Amino acid sequence: MLICQTKQELIKYLNQQKLKTTSIGFVPTMGALHKGHLSLLQESKKKCDLTICSIFVNPTQFNDNKDFERYPNTVKEDVQQLKNADINVLFLPSVADMYPTGTINLEKYDLGIIEAVFEGYYRPGHFQGVCQIVHRLLEIVNPNILFLGQKDYQQCMIIKKLITLIQKNIDICIVPTIREDTGLAMSSRNMLLSADAKKQAAVIYRMMIDIKKNIHSYSIHILEEKAKVYLLENGFSKIDYVSIVDANTLEPIDNPKIGQQLVILAATFIQGIRLIDNLLIKF
Ligand code: AMP
Repeated sequence: MLICQTKQELIKYLNQQKLKTTSIGFVPTMGALHKGHLSLLQESKKKCDLTICSIFVNPTQFNDNKDFERYPNTVKEDVQQLKNADINVLFLPSVADMYPTGTINLEKYDLGIIEAVFEGYYRPGHFQGVCQIVHRLLEIVNPNILFLGQKDYQQCMIIKKLITLIQKNIDICIVPTIREDTGLAMSSRNMLLSADAKKQAAVIYRMMIDIKKNIHSYSIHILEEKAKVYLLENGFSKIDYVSIVDANTLEPIDNPKIGQQLVILAATFIQGIRLIDNLLIKF
């Protein structure tokens, strides 16, 4: 596995591969790799003849400095996992390399209403930061397929929008969420939880399964309210949102139509750590 620490190194390598490679798969990450990330990489290896993973903890997407500072960093273990996964390239750039003119007063992307709701509302500026880094990475890597996790449902929608805005011919492959045996969605932030809190956090998944089971039995509003009470009674200290919305627009729905694709979106705190999850359901 080649490790490139600067964009020049990666660009040089990609130029050398141009004639030999028919498809490049790209998996951008912030490191602290787990089986969720590995499943994106496996998918890329299946579909593409060159797989590139990046690890970059992007400062511009953190609206909370504390969250940025305590974000787990396990580069040594990550490199080993990537070598075992047998991917072609790890791109490990510095902040100065990705943001040569600094991280303030950056170009704004017109992302529309999806930027203002849920993660966008509770983490102001977050999706602008995501677009900043993803755009920069895509300009360097120019992949044929970009692999993203359904775990970050709204982020997938935002990046789809970004790709239309920047007019790149890139396919997006969305990979299902990988979960612990308990149902807890794997996440780098889970490392920050105690063993007990991690066990308790599986309640998010049970809550979403409960909603799915009862989707025809109660109104959307009642299901959302019951879910919040359930989380608060089972170890969660604060809830940003638990909402059942249209899966394509993220708009609220009062009276879903039979066959309508819905998504449950949740963001909630346990032991001071903010976890997000989602589940698709057909009404
Ligand atoms: P992150 O390192 O958290 O920025 O995530 C990098 C990529 O991995 C994103 O596309 C995430 O959606 C995806 N990802 C994170 N957790 C999971 C998971 N549990 N299952 C599948 N994909 C995931």
